[in-house]
Amino acid sequence: MTLADPTNKNPSVNFFGEKPINLIGMNLRQMETEMTEIGEPPFRANQLYKWVYNRGVTDFESMTNIAKTLRSELAKRYIISRPAISKSLDSTDGTHKWLIKLTDGNEVETVHIPESDRGTLCISSQIGCTLNCKFCYTGTQRLVRNLYPGEILEQIMVARDFLNEWPSEERKSIYDRQLSNIVMMGMGEPLYNFDNVSAALKIIMDGQGISISRRRITLSTAGVVPLIRRCGEELGVGLAVSLHAVRDDLRNEIVPINKKYPLSELISACRDYPGSRNSRRITFEYVMLKGVNDSPGDAHELVRLISGIPAKVNLIPFNPWPNSPYERSSEESIEKFAAIIRNAGYPSPVRTPRGEDIMAACGQLKSESKRVPKK
Ligand code: SAH
Repeated sequence: MTLADPTNKNPSVNFFGEKPINLIGMNLRQMETEMTEIGEPPFRANQLYKWVYNRGVTDFESMTNIAKTLRSELAKRYIISRPAISKSLDSTDGTHKWLIKLTDGNEVETVHIPESDRGTLCISSQIGCTLNCKFCYTGTQRLVRNLYPGEILEQIMVARDFLNEWPSEERKSIYDRQLSNIVMMGMGEPLYNFDNVSAALKIIMDGQGISISRRRITLSTAGVVPLIRRCGEELGVGLAVSLHAVRDDLRNEIVPINKKYPLSELISACRDYPGSRNSRRITFEYVMLKGVNDSPGDAHELVRLISGIPAKVNLIPFNPWPNSPYERSSEESIEKFAAIIRNAGYPSPVRTPRGEDIMAACGQLKSESKRVPKK
């Protein structure tokens, strides 16, 4: 069953007793259709699109290149929404986490991670997750539903509002941005919501839209092999793969999607990923679990497995969560592991846990939302 887009289910009604239509989530073509319906030329859609996505306005009155009478007509028919924020948390390390409340009451998390040379926004693609990776907190929350394109985009809107980082007439392009990079690494498996993620990413990458280049976007997957190819062809964003184990028996256990798409298939999809043919490396993510996957033997096998793929291996010290069944590997074993990979010629940064005090680090995102059983 497909649900109607809840972002359009605004309970308030306009002057004519109609529900206003949310522009957030529409692509340019959809806005053109809207404009045609109300007798406006298609270029009006270009203006709207730019105001909404590039300038971040939420008020039709600010659309100075549109005639005043039309602005008020538009305001009767449309809204430019922002979601409610249930929680907005600051970590001592500068990381910020928002718990966003969607129009149907469900909640998702979004995290902003400032670094010296960039600022990364970690975006969710689903409420809950189907994957059940054993070390991941989100995996303990059942899938409630996929996010709509507008709900994916709104996470960026929220962050840009908060950081006060919308371009304006005076500030057309932004250097030194606090929000320069996007990672699809929040709650959910983005490739299991491919159509909506793709629709949102196209607006994010569009220079007239949110305008963040594909070179600054990374999509992380646990390994939905058939969609990895589509992701490369349609989106061309950077690919991160949650590897976490180098033998099928262990990976079946801790990343259960491996039973469907085993390592050999996953690695060959990575080999074929378009980015890997030009200069863009694939990121392999590897969570360091004490005594489980962190031996020197595992590191050597990892090197063998990915040989020939332009790659970097991101080691993620395990981030604990309430009653989690694993422990973080010692610093020493993480360093040994990293050294083996580096000696084989692959960069192997150790990801510093960020926002641990507000449960914002990798694998710590979860909301209270539950699936309502179908009647
Ligand atoms: N479903 C996608 C997107 C999630 S990205 C994927 O699996 O790639 C989040 C990253 O954090 C993934 O690499 C995930 O495996 C990792 N992760 C999950 N739980 C973790 C934990 N407790 N500690 C460290 N990393 C974790």
